[in-house]
Amino acid sequence: MLYNVASLLKAPAGADLRQTIDGVVTLESDGLEGSGEAHVVGPVTGEVRFQRANQGILATGTFHARLDMQCGRCLTHFEQDLDAAFSDMFYPTIDVVTGTPLPTVDHEPGFVIDSRHHLDLSESIRQQIILDLPMSPICRVDCAGLCPICGGNRNVTPCDCEEREDAAHNPFARLINLQLPEDA
Ligand SMILES: [Zn+2]
Ligand SMILES: [Zn+2]
Repeated sequence: MLYNVASLLKAPAGADLRQTIDGVVTLESDGLEGSGEAHVVGPVTGEVRFQRANQGILATGTFHARLDMQCGRCLTHFEQDLDAAFSDMFYPTIDVVTGTPLPTVDHEPGFVIDSRHHLDLSESIRQQIILDLPMSPICRVDCAGLCPICGGNRNVTPCDCEEREDAAHNPFARLINLQLPEDA
């Protein structure tokens, strides 16, 4: 998801450039602690505004992504839409006019524009998706989850394990089937 921002880097502060977002973003599983597995399905689409600031370029935009996640209760995969916004600073590493390397601005949060004046939005969007992922995704609010006894998915195959378990621990359970003598 590269954008050539050479001309914007030559423009005075305040100049802006609007572009569409349409590209692939991959989530690496090591950044997803607590959220289980999550993948982006298809392209991420949206709009971005690049604005020339004194030290770099401010990218603000909105995007839409479709996510494949794993339900924390029943472990099935489900898809969910995500609409999110981002705002990140990108700093040039090379002076666009002279071609000389610029000192790194490592005290500021943000990303770098590479030596060919390409700004890569994918890392910015990737981090925003990870921030917006639910800590414990569930496929639906009333997901019944897995049965702790037989391990079956109770959304798909309801079982009576818990009732039978309760009956087994009930000291009067045997009385339920007790036959009283006819003439008592
Ligand atoms: Zn579920
Ligand atoms: Zn069961």
